[in-house]
Amino acid sequence: MTARIVNFNPGPAALPLQVLEQVRDEFLNFRGSGMSIAEISHRSALFEQVLNDAIERVVRLLKLPGDFKVLFLQGGASTQFVMIPMNLIPEGSSADYINTGTWATKAIKEVEILGKPHKVIASSKDRDFRYIPKDFQVTPGAAYLHFTSNNTIKGTQWATFPKAGDVPLVSDMSSDILSRPFDPKPFGLIYAGAQKNLGPAGVTIVIIREDMLAREPANLPTMFRYTTHAEKNSLYNTPPCIAIYMVQLVLKWVEETIGGLEAMEKINREKAGLLYGYMDSTDFYKGTADVDSRSMMNVTFRLPTEDLEKKFVAEAQKEKLGGLKGHRSVGGCRASLYNSISKEAVESLIAFMKDFAAKNG
Ligand SMILES: *Cc1c(COP(=O)(O)O)cnc(C)c1O
Repeated sequence: MTARIVNFNPGPAALPLQVLEQVRDEFLNFRGSGMSIAEISHRSALFEQVLNDAIERVVRLLKLPGDFKVLFLQGGASTQFVMIPMNLIPEGSSADYINTGTWATKAIKEVEILGKPHKVIASSKDRDFRYIPKDFQVTPGAAYLHFTSNNTIKGTQWATFPKAGDVPLVSDMSSDILSRPFDPKPFGLIYAGAQKNLGPAGVTIVIIREDMLAREPANLPTMFRYTTHAEKNSLYNTPPCIAIYMVQLVLKWVEETIGGLEAMEKINREKAGLLYGYMDSTDFYKGTADVDSRSMMNVTFRLPTEDLEKKFVAEAQKEKLGGLKGHRSVGGCRASLYNSISKEAVESLIAFMKDFAAKNG
């Protein structure tokens, strides 16, 4: 067996080793059932325990008030780009969007396709999405304000969330959910594909406030209604059982091994601080995001030439440091420092970067 590498992939991404080991250990005989989790009924008590435990852990970790529902849906964050405007923009109303990069652009494209009223109230496109906009006016009475909390590809992140008064916030938190605590009360809906910080691909978490469920228009197909999934505890149709089970184990790891979101944030701040701190001390590596907009999750950087970037990624791979290539649309390099990446992993990356700079600078 090849030894595991340090995996800086942007998503699907590294998972805690203890989670993978537990999955392996109980894969053939799930908790005394004599069957694999892949073989049991989604309506069995065994699976419902897994599902409900996952929901309760999300509620505890995010300190969700009682009027929030936690759903596990399919179709990825990309399907939420369309379900949100379908369900949450009532007749005569319009939604606000902030454009901070590739994923926000895709969310805006879907509301355009639906032909639903919306307004892009701010964008950082003028400087290739290197920053988080600061000056914008939320439209009074807007259906919601949609923003992407962490921009996986451009390496920017909202340090504090936009203030929208009575307008509910709707956020794509795919790449930074559970990385830090925040106040959920201003949010009408939070969503995240699991494959960055939560688990494997195949399930999307949707956290929705009950008053948002009441907005649903009359003519939506069953699977595209949030109420369908809320009323059936995400069991209207067969859910992705294995993905939910792995998310449950990751949630348990964050809660019990790490000690919750305050502890998680402290570790994430330390990791990002080490890497940015090192980069800023050199002329060889240059961060691409504005300093006040930098992401703790996805550190994007350039080397002096594209040839050196190729060499950097290839040599890192030889040293068992994988996944450092930037997104194909932007080039450069990117280290994704999701929850499962340890401080030691970041230190090993920095040691390699020092060595590479000394040899090639
Ligand atoms: C990865 C990612 C997506 C896409 O998620 P899918 O589950 O593949 O649809 C959307 N938004 C953000 C912020 C992401 O990082």
